[in-house]
Amino acid sequence: MKIAVPENVNKMIDQLEAAGYCAYAVGGCIRDSLLGITPHDWDICTAAVPEKVLEVLGKYNVIESGLKHGTVTVNYGGELYEITTFRTDGEYLDNRRPESVTFVSSLKEDLERRDFTVNAMAYNEADGLCDYFGGKEDIKNKLIRCVGNPDKRFNEDALRILRALRFAARFGFEMEEKTAVSIRENAHLLCNISAERIASELLQIIDGEYAEAILLSYSDVLGVVIPEILPMVGFNQRNPHHIYDVWEHTVKVIVNSPHGKMMRLAALLHDIAKPECFFTDEKGTGHFHGHPELGAKMAETIMRRLKLDNKTIESVKVLIKYHDQRPQTKAKNVRRLVSKIGCVAFENLMELKRADAKGQNPDKLAEKLAYIDRLGEIYTEVTSNGDEFNLKSLKINGNDLIENGIKEGKQIGKILNQLLSEVIDGTLENNREKLLTKAHNIIDKQFNT
Ligand code: ATP
Ligand code: MG
Repeated sequence: MKIAVPENVNKMIDQLEAAGYCAYAVGGCIRDSLLGITPHDWDICTAAVPEKVLEVLGKYNVIESGLKHGTVTVNYGGELYEITTFRTDGEYLDNRRPESVTFVSSLKEDLERRDFTVNAMAYNEADGLCDYFGGKEDIKNKLIRCVGNPDKRFNEDALRILRALRFAARFGFEMEEKTAVSIRENAHLLCNISAERIASELLQIIDGEYAEAILLSYSDVLGVVIPEILPMVGFNQRNPHHIYDVWEHTVKVIVNSPHGKMMRLAALLHDIAKPECFFTDEKGTGHFHGHPELGAKMAETIMRRLKLDNKTIESVKVLIKYHDQRPQTKAKNVRRLVSKIGCVAFENLMELKRADAKGQNPDKLAEKLAYIDRLGEIYTEVTSNGDEFNLKSLKINGNDLIENGIKEGKQIGKILNQLLSEVIDGTLENNREKLLTKAHNIIDKQFNT
């Protein structure tokens, strides 16, 4: 078994070995190499205690911030590498972090504290692959399996529950049976984990290439983190546009959305208010009036709880609020929507609407996609000169009006808005001369009557 370890990593391993300390590349980089994926970083583990690592590699730029847990970060050739002393974790009292760590001299003990078999392998040129827990076999069989007893491991650190879902969603792996049972039984422990750590895992789960199966199978676990998800699961929509329940639909929309935090969150939360807004008409057909507006509010509450950043929260809210709008395929309707939300949000909204349509009744899909395509064409036409149809993109401003004798702030605002409204309707060109002429007309009318 040969793994292509980068030269920098081999050089550091060699220097540690030459000083008498064994050292290996370890964890995610070995897993990714076996999967044929290029690792995004290479971690090293070693028998050398941090002071010794500093002695051997201190001639390079080092960052000592992780020293307490045995980690020295080395800037080697412009790249950062984490070098961690073999360690076992002390007692876990809060399902989160060990109270203390103990440095040990054996690689096996270090690998034993790691979460999953696929993450618990090490490698160096001299010893080849060190795989004490069957990680290679589990990669072959596409399985996420805890190292040791799953109940014990999830009790030590409940975040591992979401990490398991994350790796499965990223690689298309299944849960080994005992691991799966234990995930469900211990999911409630996630309430001890900080919002930031949960959010980071959750975002990676919904962004996973193989998220669909995981989101469908583990809605109960996600419901511990976002309880608002639970009413969506199994919720029959009773509407000819839909063949899936609200959660199945949501999952389809997620996996059909472009990757990235904002789009995937918008997809996850776009119908969060549907159960609350549901009613049936006299024919027994289901409707969800008001769900975009209420959904945007609920989404904000959820995203604040997860301590997400304001920019993401605001963008996601706009997408949810407007996701169900169906403007007519006319220039002025498209301009009006662009004027309300701006170009970036409009483009994202079209992506969300596309994904939304793909999660609905396939019989109506072609028609819905053709409609969205048409909106896109009109959008391209009306914004071809960079116009966003807001006061800022109007080719005259308040100063121009002041120069034309308007002094009162209220009047200025009113006139500019009237001009903008005509530009949106297509009855007036966004052109300085024409706008000024029109402004004069408005002023004259006002003062001469
Ligand atoms: P990624 O490619 O996403 O970085 P990774 O496997 O490298 O995946 P990290 O969070 O960077 O994940 O952790 C590095 C290694 O440390 C893991 O491969 C695993 O061996 C170990 N590890 C990380 N977090 C935990 C944890 N909560 N419990 C046990 N072991 C962990
Ligand atoms: Mg990593």
